Amino acid sequence: MLTGWNVAILGGDARQIEMIRKLSEWDASLHLVGFDQLDYGFTGANHIDMDDEEVEKFDVVILPVAGTDENGNIDSIFSNQQMVLDEDWVTRTKDECIFLTGIANNYLIDLLDKTDRRMVPLLSRDDVAIYNSVPTVEGAIMMVIQNTDFTIHSSRVHVLGLGRVGMSVARAFHGLGAKVHVGVRKPAHYARVQEMGLVPFYLNNLEKNAENSDIMINTIPAPIINASVIRKMPSHTFILDLASKPGGTDFRYAEKRGIKAIIAPSLPGIVAPKTAGRILANTVSQILKDYKRKDGESK
Ligand code: NAP
Repeated sequence: MLTGWNVAILGGDARQIEMIRKLSEWDASLHLVGFDQLDYGFTGANHIDMDDEEVEKFDVVILPVAGTDENGNIDSIFSNQQMVLDEDWVTRTKDECIFLTGIANNYLIDLLDKTDRRMVPLLSRDDVAIYNSVPTVEGAIMMVIQNTDFTIHSSRVHVLGLGRVGMSVARAFHGLGAKVHVGVRKPAHYARVQEMGLVPFYLNNLEKNAENSDIMINTIPAPIINASVIRKMPSHTFILDLASKPGGTDFRYAEKRGIKAIIAPSLPGIVAPKTAGRILANTVSQILKDYKRKDGESK
């Protein structure tokens, strides 16, 4: 149980609903910031503003999956109020307050380092990233269907990257009958792709591979689908960029060439917020219970 823990949830999307439900079940004292337009009533949860004096009590602060932007702004789909996580705000929390986020950008890393607060980026954990790849893939399939006028079956699909998302994407598109090629940079990944019955290629041959691509799905958070690659693509190629913003595609050049290219962040939150929220909520509860155990049940 999390009895006696003051947990603040700052903004986010429908995924936070499961988080609120789960933490409520575990008897945490919940403080919700940026949920004033939320229709569900959560009995016992305390709706507050960023400048509320309760901030000084927080043991845990849960940020949206996207964390903050590079200026510290926090998004909430349930509120129009502006929320900014800055040094003044963070230092008002207890010294031992834990900050949980989906992903951490440089702003967040610097801020929590400077204020000496502990941060846990949930999506860096392999277990969370692998579970989360399932709704991501379902969202990717949806995006491809919506943006092409040909079947996935028999299409030549190039997946870039064989990480947690890339592997699930490659496997799912193969299962749908696509001819899947996977671009990697490590020999071990090359071997794995072959073992999976797919066609591997090294990323330094990406330009050549682009000539035969109907669908290119990027999972590499680096500028990989550059103008030279896009120049080689057939005009009907659809680029789906799943990598975190700003993605790995030269969108300006793609538009200039008339190639359809879309960045699709936060797909789990769009296609399966309940499942995605449950994945995060289970992990957060586990993390907090582990902290509590280490803390000698002192709370
Ligand atoms: P991951 O497990 O770290 O995999 C990243 C892959 O990119 C690895 O294969 C890695 O290869 C490769 N890579 C990284 N930098 C590279 C570079 N400079 N050149 C070539 N290859 C490079 O990450 P993940 O969990 O699969 O997530 C991939 C991306 O998707 C992230 O940006 C993540 O935030 C995003 N994501 C998006 C959604 C969505 O809804 N759109 C959902 C989940 C995740 P090496 O092993 O060789 O380094």
